[in-house]
Amino acid sequence: MSSLQTPIEYLKGVGPHRAALLKSELGIHTYQDLLHFFPNRYLDRTKYYQVSELRAESAEVQIIGKVIQLQEIKQKRGSRLVATFQDAQGSVMELIWFRGHKWVQENIKRNTLYVIFGKINWFNGKVSMPHPDMELLTEHQKKINTGLQAIYPSTEKLSKAKISNKWISGLMELLFKLYGKHITESLSNSIIEDLQLISKKAALWYIHFPKNQEILARAQQRLKFEELFYIQLQLARKKVLRQAKIKGYPFENLAEYFHGFYENHLPFSLTNAQKRVIREIRKDLGSNAQMNRLLQGDVGSGKTIVAFLTMLIALDNGFQACLMAPTEILATQHYQGLKEFCDKIGANIALLTGSTTTKERRVIHEALESGEMHILVGTHALLEDKVKFSNLGYAIIDEQHRFGVKQRSKLWHKNELPPHILVMTATPIPRTLAMSLYGDLDISMIDELPPGRKPIKTLHKFDSNRLGIQGFIKTEIKKGRQVYVVFPLIEESEALDYKNLMEGYESLSRDFPMPEYQISVVHGQMSAADKEYEMQRFASGKTNIMVATTVIEVGVNVPNASVMIIESAERFGLSQLHQLRGRVGRGAEQSYCILVTSHKLSNDSKIRMETMVATNDGFKIAEVDLKLRGPGDLMGTQQSGVLNLRIADIVKDGATLQIARTQALKVIDIDPELEYPANAPIRNTLEQLQRFKNIWSYIS
Ligand code: ADP
Ligand code: MG
Repeated sequence: MSSLQTPIEYLKGVGPHRAALLKSELGIHTYQDLLHFFPNRYLDRTKYYQVSELRAESAEVQIIGKVIQLQEIKQKRGSRLVATFQDAQGSVMELIWFRGHKWVQENIKRNTLYVIFGKINWFNGKVSMPHPDMELLTEHQKKINTGLQAIYPSTEKLSKAKISNKWISGLMELLFKLYGKHITESLSNSIIEDLQLISKKAALWYIHFPKNQEILARAQQRLKFEELFYIQLQLARKKVLRQAKIKGYPFENLAEYFHGFYENHLPFSLTNAQKRVIREIRKDLGSNAQMNRLLQGDVGSGKTIVAFLTMLIALDNGFQACLMAPTEILATQHYQGLKEFCDKIGANIALLTGSTTTKERRVIHEALESGEMHILVGTHALLEDKVKFSNLGYAIIDEQHRFGVKQRSKLWHKNELPPHILVMTATPIPRTLAMSLYGDLDISMIDELPPGRKPIKTLHKFDSNRLGIQGFIKTEIKKGRQVYVVFPLIEESEALDYKNLMEGYESLSRDFPMPEYQISVVHGQMSAADKEYEMQRFASGKTNIMVATTVIEVGVNVPNASVMIIESAERFGLSQLHQLRGRVGRGAEQSYCILVTSHKLSNDSKIRMETMVATNDGFKIAEVDLKLRGPGDLMGTQQSGVLNLRIADIVKDGATLQIARTQALKVIDIDPELEYPANAPIRNTLEQLQRFKNIWSYIS
């Protein structure tokens, strides 16, 4: 164990009480952790101001001067101590204390040069500094800390315990003095030279004690790179290990199921992107390593047919396949679509959801265990222990962002060898984020929409425009089109949610009266069977309008529906809006999406509406979303916190991430076991990271 792994309480001046606080408040357990506790900002202490130079916008400043007078001024509420402070030009300002008078009076030396530091206040054209940091100039000159001063994150508990910034800085300095020699290089020479990085030791020193902006930037660059590099390295190793160790069933044959369907029943010709992706998947399935692939494709890009065709490859090799969807509606819809296909080629398919009856279940369980059932479509219900496949070879998860990683791996335990896994998502993930979250997966992209689609026209309208919107709906219905009206899901209150929706439904029923108009309604409090019934009425064209909450967000496919009205659109996130919009534009007709909001919009809401109106490109929308919300939110609660980066920023440091990934892949490609002596620093660091997980919290 290197001495840097020594528990923090052993560092001089820390002791058990403060150590406990450092641990609980800042996660600092060891010397090493302290070194990697990075400042969140810096104060420029390279500049000394003159009083005459101070401006209203000067924030924190330092000035050299003398206290020429000190007096206590009595006030109604307490008193204040005021010093007259004079700089080299003879200009004066006031230093003010509201407490601690005695100490100041006894300790401040008159007519001696001090460096004062702090925030300034302006009052009636006069400048003052309350509670300045004061240091004798002679002392100040001895210190290292004359460049940029590091400011560390703090908490209330720490301030109360007098664990100040100064104290942390002092501790850091001591740590370097005593143990600096133990800081070892963590990257290989070739990477350091390639990227012209400064050494680890220099980077750590300058991140805490930067002399100037330039050296600080280099220290940050080095540490950001290193952080991202080790994330990428671990993902890359995970992938290599998986490919080497986790065997999968090789699907070598393409036979009747695939060819039979492809040649005789394919309802349309595939786009080039679909063909390419099928080739990529086929190649993976044909090797004897387990496939773990993410399929990204914007809404409507045609992922379902890719899923189906590749399932047929499993069938052709004597294996079963399953397709898991996040909602019952979606699972049902997948089932209905695929059942038609299956019937044509004599494949057996079943649907298993929460509302499958016990009797039906029993039949399905048996058919799965005997191997007679080829394809199972369903919701989470599919993961239940009772569901046993005779030979599951391929599992597809649709709309992956709804599932946690745990659920993904649960599928593995259904068979001796893990099935090949394809995860499909319509929530485009910006490249940088995809690389960090799914760097261990292979990624396929359908980046082309089926031909003949007219881009959806998106409009932003205010509530006050309601009559105009109604008129528009009527015209579209007259043309034979169908319309969605979506209300936001209020997560805190299902009751409120319901009320909101039902009021909307009632007012729509008044404006669009029966029998001329038929309206469906679907919401979270309905039974699955009722939902299904209503969905069916809409899908078969029996109703003109579908009023719903976001239950229809995911995957639902009714090509004749060409208008999407989103009520209180400002309450939705960008990716959700994009998902909802994707429910229309699925047929040959011109489709519309109308975002209805109130007049009062926050800046972010405005940007969201503008983005939706400006583009249909899911990847562009995802980039904006990432900028607005940050990565944690974007991935939803399940994955938030995954990217708990110390110094790098997934949004701003995309370029560095790319470089880190390239370098990591290169290392792993040449030396997967990190055996070359030249890679020893990397191997050692990696081992340490894995042993002491708190150094960087991102280790999956
Ligand atoms: P998503 O990627 O959102 O799941 P779907 O698989 O539901 O998209 O496909 C959307 C619609 O496009 C469906 O109606 C499907 O039949 C149709 N489709 C898919 N691929 C093609 C294609 N190559 N040519 C024409 N239509 C297609
Ligand atoms: Mg889909």
